[in-house]
Amino acid sequence: MSEYSFGNPEVVEEEVDILLIGGGMACCGAAFEIMKWIDAARAQGTDIKVRLVDKAALDRSGAVAQGLSAINTYMGENDPADYVRYVRGDLMGITREDLVYDTGRHVDDSVHNFEKWGLPIWKQPGDEGRSLVEGGKPVHSGRWQIMINGESYKWIVAEAAKKALGTENIQEHVFIVRLETDKNDSGRVAGAAGFSVREDKIHVYKFKACLLAAGGAVNVFRPRSVGEGTGRAWYPVWNSGSTYTMAAECGAELTLMENRFVPARFKDGYGPVGAWFLLFKAKSMNAFGEDYQEKNYDDLAVYGYDKYAVGFKMGTCLRNHLMMKEMKEGRGPIFIDTPTAMAKLAENMTPKEIKHLEAEAWEDFLDMTIAQCGVWAGENIEPDKEMSELMPTEPYLLGSHAGCAGLWVSGPEDLPGTPDHYHWGYNRMTTVRGLFTAGDGVGASGHKFSSGSYTEGRIAAKAMVKFVLDNPDIKPALARSVDEIFEEIYRPVRNFLEHKDYTTDIDVNPHYIAPKMFQFRLQKIMDEYVAGISVMYQTNAHMLKVAERKLEMLREDSEKMRAKDLHELLRAWENYHRLIAAFAHMKHIQFREESRYPGYYYRADFMQVDDENWKCFVNSTFDRRTGEWKMKKVHWIPLIVKSDNEPEGIGNPGSRV
Ligand SMILES: Cc1cc2nc3c(=O)[nH]c(=O)nc-3n(C[C@H](O)[C@H](O)[C@H](O)COP(=O)(O)OP(=O)(O)OC[C@H]3O[C@@H](n4cnc5c(N)ncnc54)[C@H](O)[C@@H]3O)c2cc1C
Repeated sequence: MSEYSFGNPEVVEEEVDILLIGGGMACCGAAFEIMKWIDAARAQGTDIKVRLVDKAALDRSGAVAQGLSAINTYMGENDPADYVRYVRGDLMGITREDLVYDTGRHVDDSVHNFEKWGLPIWKQPGDEGRSLVEGGKPVHSGRWQIMINGESYKWIVAEAAKKALGTENIQEHVFIVRLETDKNDSGRVAGAAGFSVREDKIHVYKFKACLLAAGGAVNVFRPRSVGEGTGRAWYPVWNSGSTYTMAAECGAELTLMENRFVPARFKDGYGPVGAWFLLFKAKSMNAFGEDYQEKNYDDLAVYGYDKYAVGFKMGTCLRNHLMMKEMKEGRGPIFIDTPTAMAKLAENMTPKEIKHLEAEAWEDFLDMTIAQCGVWAGENIEPDKEMSELMPTEPYLLGSHAGCAGLWVSGPEDLPGTPDHYHWGYNRMTTVRGLFTAGDGVGASGHKFSSGSYTEGRIAAKAMVKFVLDNPDIKPALARSVDEIFEEIYRPVRNFLEHKDYTTDIDVNPHYIAPKMFQFRLQKIMDEYVAGISVMYQTNAHMLKVAERKLEMLREDSEKMRAKDLHELLRAWENYHRLIAAFAHMKHIQFREESRYPGYYYRADFMQVDDENWKCFVNSTFDRRTGEWKMKKVHWIPLIVKSDNEPEGIGNPGSRV
């Protein structure tokens, strides 16, 4: 029997050249791409050792775990410049156009690979059996979205990653807690540390470069689903803000952390609406059957939001805004009219075709959000016969869907007009040398989705190999001792073991706080003061000041979290990561004195979209020893010329910062 135990874990130290943290779309892309460049380096006489660590199992980890029903970023015959126009329109004008263009120009190759590896992509009648590269025309659910049978999407992508990297270079069920800077260079990352969620082991890695792609953050805010529905959320429950927190604590600059994503989804089941709106052309309405988008359209002009809409073409947050007005003024619930859409589509169809259509509609949920089917079954709803309710969810922090929170990274060097502050060396490298990110980690460039995140992982992989080859003299040395790191990671366990006998009920103890209770406190603060659901997504400077004080107290209390087993140790550190990500979100909202993303959140004291002062990025850095946040404005530069059918706001000059 091993001498190691819960209270006395084994410490495993390893040195590699490159560490990939996360096993989602971005890291799978990196894993697939990196071996080509490593093989090329080996042929030139340099060996590069790489390792991937994921807190879960690669086959079903990350946001794509359950499957998807569409690939949302595919160019096909479109120009990547138009893709940039679409992304900046959706994100209220402020995006890193260099990063978006870079993803757009490379993404199709990844999608073609997915198809080659076995992902079924729907084709138009007559083109069945022809792959995309053979000229097969996909079924679009929108200009950039193509339909798939995607229940095994992640499995397929993970298989290719495993084949490329070799399973011996992949460690599953290891949760990374911290990045460590270099002892002799505080501007460079040199290591990472975490623990196994299955065995009593602490893992400490040293490396020259690292891809931190551990997704976005869920459960930072009190969710709509509580009590009997606890655990249900739109965003996958296992991404807990690790990317933002670990990078920030290592000194990396964050950008647009004030942004969030509030998807309007089928109520309670969080089922996707994209295919219903885009493919089946369903309409949404208020409780009185009114088309609230049309009815509330003029309201956009009150605070200058109309500058970011062209007719009914507008960003996701503005569509939310029109819906929220109805809800606030008491004309809810909001419904999606699924029966009319189905009946209309069926008008000229044979019974066989209608059956096929119904199958497609169910497939949309069965391959992606099975829980939605459970809700319908439980409530006796047949969506083709009865309308369903829509609801804006609790907020999530992410950088690859219709949101753009994340890290400030260096972009590609070859795009004309790119300013110096967009590029400082290696593509997708953060402001900390050797630390790269991709997917939900990269800020100011949303709408990458699964295929774009994967592509960014590939881009980062190539750049990391170059970084390693360019810096042969780096000998990583951790700024802190392994003992210090160990004590910090295991502090929740020590808190528990030392104090558990103080009371008869281990859950009630003045010496520690259970991770679950800690999470409730965090969610309550964020919900009530930082524009959560209970205050209809509104906040102001006074509320944010209260939030700041309470979050600071929670930060102090985080040292008192307990872990009674490995599962709670995981929960403790997930919640710590959530806390720092939440702090960043609050500080950014506090700093940006306008409502840039109405429908995602409102600064009730600054309701305007204020291009004159705030058409810029907001970036921040965090000092984890002092707890101090430094905020600044960063100049935004448009790179792709405005087209005639883009909203007026796109052409508005940036603020002079
Ligand atoms: C509900 C939902 C629906 C979506 N629908 C679509 C769609 O229809 N089409 C589409 O193209 N895209 C869709 N997307 C977007 C797509 O899923 C994401 O863009 C993509 O998964 C982001 O990739 P990523 O690698 O950044 O994060 P993820 O794929 O989420 O991967 C994150 C990885 O990090 C690991 N991890 C987290 N924390 C740690 C830690 N501390 N230590 C170690 N590992 C850690 C996780 O286990 C996971 O493997 C959807 C996303 C969501 C949430």
